[in-house]
Amino acid sequence: MLSDLSFEEIKLYVKKIGLPEFRGQQIFDAIYSGKTLQEISNISKAIKDIIQPDYPSYNIERCLTSKDGTKKYIVKYADGNIVECVLMKYKYGYTLCVSTQVGCRMGCKFCASTLHGLARNLSAGEILGQVLLVNRELGGSLKKRMITNIVMMGSGEPLDNFDNVTRFIDLVSAGRGLNISQRNISLSTCGLVPQIYKLLEKSYNITLTISLHASEDEKRAMIMPIANKYKISEIFKACKDYYQKTNRRIYFEYTLIKGVNDSQEDCLRLAKLLKGFNCHINIIPLNTVKERTLQSTSRLEAYKFADRLKELGLSATVRRTMGEDIAGACGQLRNQIIETKN
Ligand code: SAH
Repeated sequence: MLSDLSFEEIKLYVKKIGLPEFRGQQIFDAIYSGKTLQEISNISKAIKDIIQPDYPSYNIERCLTSKDGTKKYIVKYADGNIVECVLMKYKYGYTLCVSTQVGCRMGCKFCASTLHGLARNLSAGEILGQVLLVNRELGGSLKKRMITNIVMMGSGEPLDNFDNVTRFIDLVSAGRGLNISQRNISLSTCGLVPQIYKLLEKSYNITLTISLHASEDEKRAMIMPIANKYKISEIFKACKDYYQKTNRRIYFEYTLIKGVNDSQEDCLRLAKLLKGFNCHINIIPLNTVKERTLQSTSRLEAYKFADRLKELGLSATVRRTMGEDIAGACGQLRNQIIETKN
């Protein structure tokens, strides 16, 4: 698919099929402006017929708007698979939370994305498609970038789709493309240690976010099967190496689950674990997933948990919940369209 290709590669593609060079720029412009093939006005029908099998054919199937203004877009791909991405408006601009896989095979006990396992990986161009389509919805184009920040926190485990995800980072941050600064891109992982090292080799300026959720291995394994494979100590070693190499502060996500990981001891152990490490902790009260029985700690308790961490010298905040009424909040994304109250 053409959105998998860089500008240079599209130029080569155009050459290969015998079109003049300037067509490359036109096709690139159209893809990056989120246009369908039909909507391109400066290319003849004959040429459209030639490029049609390669031209992206994803589209926004539906959009749900939350009371808080957060929007959830359902993007459909050529094979009928759908994913969700969530647009959040902040003071500094728009952040898009993208999905990297259709479904997920990590099996975390509190998350909706993994309920039906992994359907398939998304290609780099398919992940990019989410950005291009939503950018267009906001009135943007190749020359007018509306989305300023990207978080890979939608459905899927980004590091389980390493090659496509890193290519996506290359494409979306390319000067010729949307040119989104790598500093404004976050990759969130449940902690696939070997892939963190592979990522480190890429020397990106992106923010690495680790879904920690527990401060001891046994407890972590109860809610995150991946913890049976990689120990917290191994994740930490990888994070420290990542920090040494990139100088980028590491973020940790800690979802509070009532009676599971929200006690005073949990808090102290977490503080001890992270003390002295240049990092930030995002506390997220669990968002409900209807198939799951786990319950959330109250918001008040979440603030107390964060305050305690701060007293102990750490940097911590409670994440604002956005889009909960449209099932667009953390862990609520899934690969089926579900009816919501909206
Ligand atoms: N697979 C990646 C990215 C996806 S999830 C990862 O594990 O990091 C983005 C964040 O939402 C993760 O920290 C994830 O653990 C968290 N999350 C998942 N389900 C949640 C839920 N029900 N409530 C709150 N946060 C949740």
